[in-house]
Amino acid sequence: MNCNLAFILTASSFLPLAFCEPPLAIKLNCEVPALQKWSEETHALLVRWHPRISNLLPTDGFKVTRVFELRIKKTQKGVGATSGSTITISSHWIEKHPDDVGLAVHELVHVIQAYPSANPSWVTEGIADYIRWAIFEGKPQSWFPLPDKPSGYKNGYRIAGGFLLWLETDKAAGIVKKLNTAMRQKKYSDEIFKVSTGRSLDELWNDYRGKK
Ligand SMILES: [Zn+2]
Repeated sequence: MNCNLAFILTASSFLPLAFCEPPLAIKLNCEVPALQKWSEETHALLVRWHPRISNLLPTDGFKVTRVFELRIKKTQKGVGATSGSTITISSHWIEKHPDDVGLAVHELVHVIQAYPSANPSWVTEGIADYIRWAIFEGKPQSWFPLPDKPSGYKNGYRIAGGFLLWLETDKAAGIVKKLNTAMRQKKYSDEIFKVSTGRSLDELWNDYRGKK
């Protein structure tokens, strides 16, 4: 359907027939022929998971990036990174860890997050690893590492991912959506935790680390 024509004339107003989005277009750029099969399978994985992750991270009026690139870069450095609309995965890492497709899912979350600022980084990386490990990989709460130290969530990644899983499950269902929207709108504050649960962020962390 041509989106420009997706309106119907009624007696009093125009009503949109459909919420039109451009088609999902992930360009594949594999610089290492031996990794072409891995690249194509990972590309297909991202096509399947893009709508799922987009649904987990909704924000009114926000349009998720639907045109971006998956680049398998020929290099001996790095693991994975996302910059703007390009996910870059290092060839040497995949040659050594071909099963690490979840890495690409983590980077896909960053494309969908599209935060104007990554700070605080523990929230950005915590959400990416929550979706990667708890949702995509299906890891149970007991799998997540939990350092016994104050404000340990600031380590981000799997530690913050496990903390977010516990919050979603036991304390404040929907908090990941709230945090995600606040980050997109540059409105993040630690107060979100207090408002959502009645407990401060550090009190919640202490509750969580007391479980082990
Ligand atoms: Zn990341």
